[in-house]
Amino acid sequence: MDEMYPGPDRSKGIGVEAKDMIKIAFFDAKEYDIASFNTANSKGEYEIRFYEAKLSEDTVKLAAGFDVVCVFVNDDVSAGVIDSLAELGVKLVALRCAGYNNVDIEHAFGKMHIVRVPAYSPYAVAEHAMALLLTSIRRIHKAYIRTRDFNFSLNGLTGFDLHGKCVGVVGTGKIGRVFSDICKGFGMKVIAYDKFPNEGSGLEYVSLDEIWEQADIISFHCPLTDETRHMVDAASISRMKKGVVLVNTSRGALIDSEALLEGIKDRKIGAACLDVYEEESDVFFHDFSGHIVADDTLARLISMPNVIVTSHQAFLTAEALSNIADTTLSNISQFFADGRCDNELCYKCEKVGKCPQEHKALCF
Ligand code: NAD
Repeated sequence: MDEMYPGPDRSKGIGVEAKDMIKIAFFDAKEYDIASFNTANSKGEYEIRFYEAKLSEDTVKLAAGFDVVCVFVNDDVSAGVIDSLAELGVKLVALRCAGYNNVDIEHAFGKMHIVRVPAYSPYAVAEHAMALLLTSIRRIHKAYIRTRDFNFSLNGLTGFDLHGKCVGVVGTGKIGRVFSDICKGFGMKVIAYDKFPNEGSGLEYVSLDEIWEQADIISFHCPLTDETRHMVDAASISRMKKGVVLVNTSRGALIDSEALLEGIKDRKIGAACLDVYEEESDVFFHDFSGHIVADDTLARLISMPNVIVTSHQAFLTAEALSNIADTTLSNISQFFADGRCDNELCYKCEKVGKCPQEHKALCF
């Protein structure tokens, strides 16, 4: 074990003298990020340069001269980008999100330390999932547009009760468990699937096949991995109940969008509530109103009366933004001051499910 996890080589140091201000290149910066990070950095302890651009092979040079790059869900932290960051002398990639499917953590091992914000508000995401579900099944999105046009007709707005319906929750970590509790509050029957069931949770765990076959509503809260990519495809859709409602606030590629579209056209899927989309990275977070959207699948999905799309918005609450900024800066501070970080990510931790070092030291 010691050989595999040798701990940090302190002789090299982490490379920032205590007197130096830590320099952070902040990619994909939005107004709300700048506001929350400026508040968290109100004492001016960090020098933060906000870039609108996403991190990619094309933009990585902007990180020259910085100690840290701070990135979000659609920044590209693939092998080539990691190599370039290491060459530029960047010491740390600080994710300001929980999911890390955009990072090649195996390639980063030994080259670049990666830290993340494992939890900032599971309530923000779980409540958004329920908001999407209620909006969809009670046709609130239609009613809102009608009444603004003084159309008070109720035709076509018939919904259904959530009370008594069976919801399948896929992934019962922090967000999935909050979502399950919300559903129980609505009087729903909750069944759950998790690769690593949380036996103390009091949840009724079933197989994935049973989720597909029994649930009236299925909500996804597991990470995107090779195993979960396209877990919703033509085969799984064929096993689902007619009229099933799918809610995805996790990662877009859990769902094969073409198969989803077919399922909707076949009237098999009753509704889809999507906060994430597998090809979202070039579209979400930008204003394309007045432009022709090139992604035909997304355009077709959005044109469906029973599909609601929000653009990766589930995390966006004041509480979550404040927690994200505080945890990101404290991750960076802990890394440089203590030579370790509780929220470090590495592929070995991922492989064994739990860090064997328990982050008493850096992973390499
Ligand atoms: P978490 O780590 O607390 O929980 C994830 C759960 O998924 C764990 O219980 C884990 O055992 C389970 N899991 C792992 N592999 C699985 C598999 N193959 N099949 C089924 N379950 C599996 O994470 P969380 O904080 O609850 O977040 C869940 C996901 O939500 C994240 O991975 C992220 O992609 C997404 N997320 C989205 C937003 C947003 O704004 N839309 C914000 C935060 C997180």
